[in-house]
Amino acid sequence: MHEHRIYDVVVVGGGAAGLSGALTLGRSRRSVLVIDGGAPRNAPAGGVHNYLTSEGVAPADLYATGRAEVAGYGVEVVDGTVTKVHRAEGHERTRFEVELAGGELVRARRLLVTTGLVDELPAIPGLAERWGRDVLHCPYCHGWEVRDQAVGVLATGPMTTHQALLFRQLTDDVVVFTHTGPPLAPEQAEQLAARGVRVVEGEVTGLEVTDDRLTGVRLRSGDLVTRQALVVGPRFAARADLLAGLGLTTSEFVVGGHVFGDHVAADASGATAVPGVWVAGNVTDPQATVIAAAAAGMKAGAALNADLIAEETDRAVTALRAGTGAATETKTGADGVDAETARHWDELYQRRERIWSGRANPHLVDVVDPLPAGTALDLGCGEGADAIWLAGRGWRVTAVDVSTTALDRAAAEAAEAGVADRIDFQRHDLTRTFPEGVFDLVSAQFLQSPLEFPRAEVLRAAARAVAPGGPAADRRARRGPAVVPTGPPGRALPHPGGDAGGTRPGPGRMVDRAVGRPPACGHRPGGAAGDPGRPPGAGPPPLTALRPPARVPWRPGTAGRCAGTRRGTRPGRRGRAAGRPRPAPRRAGATGRRRGHGPA
Ligand SMILES: Cc1cc2nc3c(=O)[nH]c(=O)nc-3n(C[C@H](O)[C@H](O)[C@H](O)COP(=O)(O)OP(=O)(O)OC[C@H]3O[C@@H](n4cnc5c(N)ncnc54)[C@H](O)[C@@H]3O)c2cc1C
Repeated sequence: MHEHRIYDVVVVGGGAAGLSGALTLGRSRRSVLVIDGGAPRNAPAGGVHNYLTSEGVAPADLYATGRAEVAGYGVEVVDGTVTKVHRAEGHERTRFEVELAGGELVRARRLLVTTGLVDELPAIPGLAERWGRDVLHCPYCHGWEVRDQAVGVLATGPMTTHQALLFRQLTDDVVVFTHTGPPLAPEQAEQLAARGVRVVEGEVTGLEVTDDRLTGVRLRSGDLVTRQALVVGPRFAARADLLAGLGLTTSEFVVGGHVFGDHVAADASGATAVPGVWVAGNVTDPQATVIAAAAAGMKAGAALNADLIAEETDRAVTALRAGTGAATETKTGADGVDAETARHWDELYQRRERIWSGRANPHLVDVVDPLPAGTALDLGCGEGADAIWLAGRGWRVTAVDVSTTALDRAAAEAAEAGVADRIDFQRHDLTRTFPEGVFDLVSAQFLQSPLEFPRAEVLRAAARAVAPGGPAADRRARRGPAVVPTGPPGRALPHPGGDAGGTRPGPGRMVDRAVGRPPACGHRPGGAAGDPGRPPGAGPPPLTALRPPARVPWRPGTAGRCAGTRRGTRPGRRGRAAGRPRPAPRRAGATGRRRGHGPA
């Protein structure tokens, strides 16, 4: 469970409905957290019946198998009790905070509540202790198990005759105890008599138990009626207190004009009156058996996925209309993106409304500022500050990231900055696909990842993406672009012709800027605030790899030095330089300077 993460869906309750919904969502590549109190309604029963393919399985085994199955699709399941849920501040529509009994707080875009119900049993001494064993309620759950036995039916409500007739299908020996129930109507008494069901008047005051087995039902008169099982009609109380913070309350559960308890009302898909909140299983349908609860969970999971897709598509359409490229996501196709990688970066961006400062990286600004505009490739563009800055200076930019959240934000910012027509946002998982074309400038700020990431390979691809030209074009034509490491000695950067050994000294061709290796460059170390991709003290340094356009006179003194030494202690200075076009607006809560991030 990640407290800083925004899950697509938090499922409250890990019974049949919850786990089934989680399975559907997990298989739809949603990030899902199931929080389960570990008290499924049928826990007292020896086995689950009427569940095709798992007939008779112990409830605990069924749920353990379910947990393992959903885990196979990346769903997280934690033991815990949710005490309340409410809307996350600032999110009018669908963003929720889920509070656990231990004080933990998790966030979700949607909720699936499958907390089940509590069976409120008749207050007869000793009855609750035998619940689910020989005190029963449902012929489909336990009927076969008591076939041909002496069965009693305790009258507490309007369903007594119905229950008695159902159990009469399973045994010839059924007795109705009138107890505190409403008087039998003449036609009911006639039906019972016709089917050979005996009616015993009087209040039941206790149960006889011998060797941990029900043996009889004691009446206030003192009479004992021998019975092996007793059928009761509990009142169903939905476990829904946690929803009060959302203004979602229970209503009476009515069947055939009779009230059997309460439930959370929902439509056929499980959608409640509160947008973004779905329910499934006994919390909304007290009559659902395990297989029906699982089916409802599946249905709700599918509806939730569709709802999320609708929201994501709305965002993509907005970006498309803005003339930017979230729509180009399809260029790579779903198979072009590793699910884990995409999930990791999307979750990172979803932690806050904005992750980066919105200012261009000062090292990029430092190097590019003197250059005339050309074409640029920004690898790991994040929320787009570098791409927007470049576009504002006249560059035509291809900006790449793996996170749709980041790309959507970047596209919106680009539109706001009026440069959307000069940026082609593309979604790539650089471990799998790389943008097509060659560019005058390739920028890869902080290209790294805590996940498996072939950085050297990607950098080689980046080097190959540099357009021919420049002062040493003739050499490159023969050998391909070389890579000149700069900054502190001792670190060679990969070049396209081989491994990480490209160490041709001197100016020219392609320039890599290796900055940010304190203390040599005086650059801020990794792990600084606002740099979620870089754990403290770990990971490779940020990298700007660029080549000036062929038509630009090569100035080794500009791009070949370690920028961190000169400017690293004054981050953002160049980002505020005169002539900088329409900076992306800063937003409340933005911290630190903008840095590019890991793999696109
Ligand atoms: C004694 C008995 C025997 C039964 N036998 C059968 C049978 O053989 N076959 C059959 O089909 N049906 C049987 N049923 C019915 C079956 O129990 C229900 O159909 C099924 O449990 C409903 O599944 P659910 O997921 O909606 O709720 P549940 O299975 O009750 O699961 C709800 C889960 O949510 C958790 N939860 C609740 N509140 C919170 C919270 N605030 N935070 C976190 N977690 C929470 C609970 O701990 C629980 O694990 C039986 C019922 C009883 C009472």
